[in-house]
Amino acid sequence: MQKPVENADFVTLTPTASVDKARHGWRAKCLQRLIRLDLPVPKTVALPAETVRAIASGQVFDMAAIADCFGPQMLVSVRPSPENPEWGGPGTVLNVGMNDDMHAVLSNTHGSEAADALYLRFVQLYSIHVARLDPDMFQQEPGPGALEAALDAYEEETDERFPQSGAQQLAEVLRSMARAWEGTTARLLRQAKGAPPDAVLGLLVQEMALGIGPGLSGSGTMQFVDSVTGAPQITGRFRGQSQGRTSAVETLYLTRDPRGASLEEADGRVFDTLKDFGARCRVKLREEMQIEFTIESGKVHVIDAVRVPRSSRAAVRIAVALANDDVISREDALLRVEPRAITELLHYQVDPRAPRDVLARGIAASPGAATGKIVFSAAAAQASAARDEPCILVRRETSPEDIRGMHAAVAVLTERGGMTSHAAVIARGLGLPCIVGAEIEINSRERQFRGPKGRLFREGDTITLDGTNGEVLVGTAEMLAPALDDGFRTLLSWADLVRDIGIRANADTPEDARTALMFEADGIGLCRTEHMFFDEDRLTVMREMIFADGPEDRRAALDRLLPMQRDDFGALFELMKGEPVCIRLFDPPLHEFLPHDREGMRELAEALDRPLSEVTRRVEALSEFNPMLGMRGVRLGVTVPEIYDMQARAIFEATVEALRRGAEVVPEIMIPLVSASREVEIVKTRVDAVAAAVRTETKEDFTYRLGVMVETPRAALRAGEIAEHAAFLSFGTNDLTQMTYGLSRDDAGRFMSTYVNQQVYSEDPFHILDVEGVGELLLIGAARGRSARPDVTISVCGEHGGNPESIAFCRAAGFDYVSCSPFRVPVARLAAAHFALLAPRGRSFP
Ligand code: PEP
Ligand code: MG
Repeated sequence: MQKPVENADFVTLTPTASVDKARHGWRAKCLQRLIRLDLPVPKTVALPAETVRAIASGQVFDMAAIADCFGPQMLVSVRPSPENPEWGGPGTVLNVGMNDDMHAVLSNTHGSEAADALYLRFVQLYSIHVARLDPDMFQQEPGPGALEAALDAYEEETDERFPQSGAQQLAEVLRSMARAWEGTTARLLRQAKGAPPDAVLGLLVQEMALGIGPGLSGSGTMQFVDSVTGAPQITGRFRGQSQGRTSAVETLYLTRDPRGASLEEADGRVFDTLKDFGARCRVKLREEMQIEFTIESGKVHVIDAVRVPRSSRAAVRIAVALANDDVISREDALLRVEPRAITELLHYQVDPRAPRDVLARGIAASPGAATGKIVFSAAAAQASAARDEPCILVRRETSPEDIRGMHAAVAVLTERGGMTSHAAVIARGLGLPCIVGAEIEINSRERQFRGPKGRLFREGDTITLDGTNGEVLVGTAEMLAPALDDGFRTLLSWADLVRDIGIRANADTPEDARTALMFEADGIGLCRTEHMFFDEDRLTVMREMIFADGPEDRRAALDRLLPMQRDDFGALFELMKGEPVCIRLFDPPLHEFLPHDREGMRELAEALDRPLSEVTRRVEALSEFNPMLGMRGVRLGVTVPEIYDMQARAIFEATVEALRRGAEVVPEIMIPLVSASREVEIVKTRVDAVAAAVRTETKEDFTYRLGVMVETPRAALRAGEIAEHAAFLSFGTNDLTQMTYGLSRDDAGRFMSTYVNQQVYSEDPFHILDVEGVGELLLIGAARGRSARPDVTISVCGEHGGNPESIAFCRAAGFDYVSCSPFRVPVARLAAAHFALLAPRGRSFP
């Protein structure tokens, strides 16, 4: 039995009609708002999602009621209207209702050429997308005979005349669009853009505004800011005698232009009307909109308006301008900018419009982009920099010996490693674009590498590294410069007014500290002091210290390092102007300072005036099977205490000098890799003794704070007793993740993608804090630390500190601050503001 045919449910858009974004879609809601603004929107009816779904499932509706809304000569477009514009939808179909009668009418009013073109376009579109006929048969170019040919082809293929009933055409178009939404590809595409699996579609039927006719007629789009920069500027296009994307008879510039005629000159009144519509939309819709319009013999119709598509830098500028003009609040401006997106403003970026020849992909370890010549060693990088030739350092992995090479390079590419491997951490600190764990195979001896498709690249070849999305490109690429402009600074200053968690920077050098200051960090949360020993002159003294025959010799070498360290800390105190500076005592295993190849050892033997055999023996004696879990961190502090003594003295003497200059300095000293409270007691006793000695010698009083870096699971579990000796606990989540999972920071990159693809881990835990496991240790450590010492300062200083997800976690757990690479500070500040606004704890704008 045939199902009874019902009337389709629909609503005509009026200022007061009941239109629901979840049912009728964003476009219906937006058009209704344009109607409320009194903009000339052609008559539009909206079909809700449940009707569209019923149509897709084969239910037949009587479309006469809809067709009747548009009178006996219906000519309409059908547009998709999902809940979110990002989710796409089937393409708009124009000119539904075109038939022989309408053709005759339009031939009279608009001329036969225009009528032919409109009819032809609809027949082609309908045949291909609705009747699903062979597209090859409907490629007719407009011109004499083309319309007849298309109509004949339709009849030949279907044995039916091209449908002449507008209601029937409409029913078929709606059905094909409703079905297109249900297709697998369309579903996957929108899910990739964040649509839920059950996302629905509304459809709009809108009276056509033709854009052809006597006088000024055509169609176009207009927006009032530049999509790339966000600067106020009228851009868009206008095509005379056209509709939608049909080929235009003539294209006019929008504004006066020396290159040719403009809409502004062609009809100043129409142009001003459009400008006025834009201004009204901006204020009332509280957004920069792109208006789609049609002009029919000088009369303007607004057929659609969408949010101006925008780059991240444009998003910042637009949000700040809207808030400055009191169109939106500052809170809204903050929430309108995605924190991660502002990374793009801090670095050079490959212009998104530029072509890309991707040679390999890897983990996007540090954002930004740079072009340079390939080099395979730190020495070659330095030589290249000396020649003023930008270079990209390509290594299997990097080690502390490569630091100077990394400084000299414009970007770093490694075959191995993950988000917290040496290359990644250092590159982020330096603000260098970096890709690690890339799908390349390096042959250092031949000074070349191969990409995944076997493409060969040699030293000296030019490549571009896009560290923002982990792509290595062949040759040079067009770049966009960083945009640390007023808009950026203003937005972040608003973020600081609302955020309720501190954001410090990990900074080892004065250069890092300057970056931290430029990004207005709340101080330095981690100064890794070992990086200070890799300068040529210091490395030699460091090696003498390592080779010392006893404490006396060791002290003599350390005495030579003391003034250098004092200057290092003095420079940081001076730059940071009283902001807290947390200095971590020496952390890495000593063998990292020793050469590992024969040539290096020979040079060292010469420098130390010792036999090569002795040097080799000592290097071998210091090497460990598992250096990450060996003689490093506080273990060195306990067994070779002179190193920490020297560092403590350097910190205190620099403090005294700063105090004498009138600065307010309370240094923070942090002990790494603690696993037992006794370690802290031992180090504290010695540091206190050094402080007492410096006070006596200098006759100056000063205070300092001694804290512990919680980066072993045991330290987190025993945080209560550790906190009794520590003014602060700072979680080193890099090592803590490594040790909680039993995963090597430097090697996990090899299998991490397999693990994530197979959902063994939901994310790379070195990248996104594992809140379930490592996070539990953080909560346990913080709770136990606080219950033993309520005023203990709690923070995170691992690389996770800069991730919005970790900031949300730390803020919810009541941490005092997070510390991250200087270049991640802006994202962290904005993310912290978002969380404070979305889950307020009682603060707001003054
Ligand atoms: C850590 O382990 O989280 C940390 C910050 O220290 P590093 O990365 O220097 O080991
Ligand atoms: Mg560590």
